[in-house]
Amino acid sequence: MKLKYSRYNIIKDHDNYRVLYNSYTKSAIIFEKDYDLSFIEDDKSIDTLDTEVKNEFINQGFIIDQERNEFDELKYGFLKKYFDKSVLTVGLIPTLQCNFNCPYCCEKPFTCGKENVSNYFEVLKKFSEREFKAYNHVHINLFGGEPLLYYKYSEEYLKWLDDFSKNNHFTYTVAMITNGSLLDEKKLDFFINHNINLIQITIDSDKENHNKMRTFKNGKPSFDILIKNIELVSRKFQKEDQLFVVRINLNNTTVKKVRDSLDNIDSKVRNNIHLMFRVIYNTQTYNEKNTNKIDKLEDYIKMGKELGFSIYSESYVLQSCEAATDGRTFYLLPNLEMSKCANELGHPACSFGKIKENGEVELDSDKLVNWFDANFEAFSNKKCMNCKLLPDCLGGCPLFKIKNGKRSCRSFDMVSLPNYYGDLDE
Ligand code: SF4
Ligand code: SF4
Repeated sequence: MKLKYSRYNIIKDHDNYRVLYNSYTKSAIIFEKDYDLSFIEDDKSIDTLDTEVKNEFINQGFIIDQERNEFDELKYGFLKKYFDKSVLTVGLIPTLQCNFNCPYCCEKPFTCGKENVSNYFEVLKKFSEREFKAYNHVHINLFGGEPLLYYKYSEEYLKWLDDFSKNNHFTYTVAMITNGSLLDEKKLDFFINHNINLIQITIDSDKENHNKMRTFKNGKPSFDILIKNIELVSRKFQKEDQLFVVRINLNNTTVKKVRDSLDNIDSKVRNNIHLMFRVIYNTQTYNEKNTNKIDKLEDYIKMGKELGFSIYSESYVLQSCEAATDGRTFYLLPNLEMSKCANELGHPACSFGKIKENGEVELDSDKLVNWFDANFEAFSNKKCMNCKLLPDCLGGCPLFKIKNGKRSCRSFDMVSLPNYYGDLDE
């Protein structure tokens, strides 16, 4: 068998070592600092490698069969996943009401629509009765506003779904993106008994910053309440298929400040918390300077690991983001519109249909076609085609492409580094 080096091998230098990473297989091998890896540029060097090293490189996908075309494989995998019909994911946004007052919230310009919540869940049930049986699995993402403000409706709906799924031979799971302030043990136990497998709570940078940015509507700070509830979730959320993500929004902060703030969390439960670092960016509703940059996350990831936390790595294999699918993933807005992306609610490019009062779907197929084109263009875009990050980035945000006519590059620190950094022994 003739061999060649993978086109997705990347050398990344850290302070004390060098890593050879493959964005296609997500494998990583650590070398001494400055170790000469220039041989991976020349396929002829493969024959000169020590057998053990060569086998390891083959096993981890750094060396592959010369006949393979990883780019075509990636394109095929992307299309297969994009149109996969086995799982339906519905994000619930029955209201935009929230008990927090975050200045950068993308939902700020919208009215809350809380008066429609009861009808929303009625229509959702009718839609569920019509559509869910066609899938092997349904994933319900409790989003918001703040999902725990409409707890009594989601509780009732999930009790109904539990019965309906059993009687109609499909499985279901639940996720919840919450600000965390209204969580308590009873609610958490209910969700755990109803297949919740993902909870995400956000901290804004550090304690001081958080208490300025993530205040309750009445101006009261929320940091100490969240730490208590983060500890509650991490004690209860112990199964292998349960993922607890604490997102740290970096906004004019420093590693030291974030470290001091995370140190408030009980060290015994840290391993159960997956930290996700994200830099706050400007949107149509928030435009402020931020000293934190998207390509400078390593020091934060390193600090999180040193404190004993787990590091979250993106679970969107073969898709650039949760919205990079056809109509089987969507958010259901308060007015029953179906929208691809929760970050720019109401953007016309994202809305591709509506659920009618009787639960029937009214599709706007042109929008779905445009959405697909924006995603798939990454595979004919010269820069992406030649980019070693393509398997991890897949062309970045499709909505950005639609709005700006060009792609927004993601950084190595954002899409690739978490794939191996959490597993490294320093
Ligand atoms: S990457 Fe873009 S399209 Fe995807 S969820 Fe984020 S903002 Fe929406
Ligand atoms: S958008 Fe940029 S970083 Fe992402 S795959 Fe394309 S060229 Fe690479």
